[in-house]
Amino acid sequence: MVTTNEHAPDKSNGAAVPRDAKMFINGAQVDALDGQTFEVHNPATGEVIARVPLAGKADVDRAVEAAQKAFEGPFAKWSAAKRGRTLAKFSDLVKRNVEDLAQIDRENVGKPISASRNESFAVSLVLEYYAGAANKHFGETIPTSMPGFDFTLREPIGVVAAIVPWNFPQNMAAWKLGPALATGNTVIIKPASWTPLSAIRLAELALEAGFPPGVVNVVTGPGGTAGAALAGHSGVGKVAFTGETTTGQEIMRLAANNVKKISLELGGKSPSVVFADADLEKFAAAAPMAVFDNAGQNCTARSRILVERSVHERLVQLVAEQTRLLAVGDPADDKTQVGSLVSQRQLERVREFVDSARDEGATLVEGGVAPADPALANGAFLMPTIFDGANADMRFIREEIFGPVVGIIPFDTEEEAVRLANSTPYGLAGSVWTRDIGRAMRVAKGIRTGTLAINSNDSIHTEAPFGGYKMSGIGRELGMHALDLYTEVKNVYVDLS
Ligand code: NDP
Repeated sequence: MVTTNEHAPDKSNGAAVPRDAKMFINGAQVDALDGQTFEVHNPATGEVIARVPLAGKADVDRAVEAAQKAFEGPFAKWSAAKRGRTLAKFSDLVKRNVEDLAQIDRENVGKPISASRNESFAVSLVLEYYAGAANKHFGETIPTSMPGFDFTLREPIGVVAAIVPWNFPQNMAAWKLGPALATGNTVIIKPASWTPLSAIRLAELALEAGFPPGVVNVVTGPGGTAGAALAGHSGVGKVAFTGETTTGQEIMRLAANNVKKISLELGGKSPSVVFADADLEKFAAAAPMAVFDNAGQNCTARSRILVERSVHERLVQLVAEQTRLLAVGDPADDKTQVGSLVSQRQLERVREFVDSARDEGATLVEGGVAPADPALANGAFLMPTIFDGANADMRFIREEIFGPVVGIIPFDTEEEAVRLANSTPYGLAGSVWTRDIGRAMRVAKGIRTGTLAINSNDSIHTEAPFGGYKMSGIGRELGMHALDLYTEVKNVYVDLS
């Protein structure tokens, strides 16, 4: 899930992954107060690659105090233009360090290096967008029935806790850092425990760009303790969360403590709806990476293909042919398109879904096994997996898998296609493939998702809102819409008499 197709990595830097990473609080690298640490792995090899501080509640308190002080300090007086200029420097530093950042997540996430470079470069573009947006988000004047003058101000909320997942560790942090910093908030990032390393590097670059100490902090530690302490902390004004729907529900409960603002980007089970008149070759060429990119660990993965019955068999064959062309392998290889899953635990979870699909009667068309290459034997790899003959009641069709597995379901009518598309509790993304513009628009309107693509799988654009209907979330990230979620609206009335 990168936010751009542009790809201009600077390959000059290439420093090693930090082996003894520290948390980042108040502009300094720090250990946990009680000295505890945890191991971080390379999922493609199973090796331990770093040790990271394991934050407890006292560390969270320390980070919140630093972020509160920074919010009330000289940063509060910065003009929007200055915040924008500093974000532009931050973006530039990320661009110059794309290779470092990309190597960190290649090693820590098991992501193919080409995809990892794309993600790091996309981070720089998100920061660049919010650099430009910082002084273009403003209030309104309102003609009230009273004779005075009424206007609104947009003011920052305060300390934002950005709690992010492991699938796109850099992008998920950047989507929150950009709008939060543009509008004058301070931030504490809580990266996922599988993948804490790149967030620390981003915080260092924010400091180097000129954001004062305490404006961007990183706390590393378990979600159930450090994450929960942040989500429930009375000094935190907003939680911006990306992750599983069940965790989002828990965060809502914790945030209720002090009626925090929340934005939630949660799970998905996104459909591609393919009609018989669609350009089937174009669809089939795009379909594999729409689900197998990032080894399927993508909230917008098109994990359900709904296809009109008259072209069903042909489409299965075309998608299978294209899937066999994917390069699965060592994430360090420039040619690899599908790397490792994030952990052995995730692999086991995905394998359970593969077993359940078989048990419930779906037909395995491709994959379902580990790659044959013995060099990958210690990694968390699974070949891209296609099941045909699926239906809406099967568990692997109802639930988010977060792995390289797609199910294909035939349909007979437009109404049935829309009903099937809407048959899960999720509503994040979807695609409609047809040459009939009227049908494309009818179906696009009928599918209840926050983002929908016609004859395309592109769900994410830096400039456009992204988020979910139903149990896929609350609020929108990216674009100018995100700025609303990081600001309070103050109405000011002036008596002119
Ligand atoms: P989780 O919900 O398990 O974790 C996300 C983050 O929340 C991690 O930093 C985690 O910490 C933390 N966390 C866990 N429990 C708590 C808690 N009780 N209180 C506060 N924080 C907590 O998601 P995953 O990391 O497993 O990510 C995969 C999920 O993310 C998928 O379901 C996917 O759909 C979703 N996702 C959604 C996107 C969207 O935009 N809609 C985009 C990308 C992913 P720790 O790692 O230490 O457990």
